[in-house]
Amino acid sequence: MILHQIRVGDIGNFNYLIGCPDTRRAAVVDPAWEPRKLLDLAAREGLTITHILVTHCHHDHVQATGAVKEVTGAAIHIHEAEAPYLKHFFPPPADVAMHDGDVVKVGNLAVRWLHTPGHSPGSSCLWVEDALITADTLFVNSIGRTDFPGSEPEEMFRSIQRLKRLPDHLTVYPGHHYGPTPTTTLGEQKRLNPFWRPDTLEAFLALTQPDNDIL
Ligand SMILES: [Zn+2]
Repeated sequence: MILHQIRVGDIGNFNYLIGCPDTRRAAVVDPAWEPRKLLDLAAREGLTITHILVTHCHHDHVQATGAVKEVTGAAIHIHEAEAPYLKHFFPPPADVAMHDGDVVKVGNLAVRWLHTPGHSPGSSCLWVEDALITADTLFVNSIGRTDFPGSEPEEMFRSIQRLKRLPDHLTVYPGHHYGPTPTTTLGEQKRLNPFWRPDTLEAFLALTQPDNDIL
């Protein structure tokens, strides 16, 4: 698998370019801020962008879906819970509404769609081979905010419990560069992420209160 992590914009966003080495087909994840970087990198690597995968529809993750679609004609995919928001606030609308457990075929790569709400209603993680793109659900040593309109701290707790059950060796690729390193592993998060430790909803909610000094 070809996987590039690309830092863009002013608030540490990461875009991703995922390519199939056999077919040279590729997906971009959360195109925003600097679409030229994604498009130029794909051209240099000889990759044809066929899919636009959107983890959630906050502006800093979707600003450039239109620009990338215009150049590539690639189909925009987003979880069904978030498709209406994309249509109204950040057109173009989605071409494909995704559901938990769906698999997107990018060339010979299988990208598994995991619905992990909490940061937003349709927030999703993307699992391909040994990589887990966690967007604004899981950051290195932290988690996404749960105080936005549409956020649900209880859902975030359930989503984190679900991520805990995935293999430790998976490499985590977050949506922002907020931690000490640009990537981590799920096993490492077990030791280093304070939001990983609570096993009960009550303990988790206590951690996410605004007056908690971890945040
Ligand atoms: Zn967000």
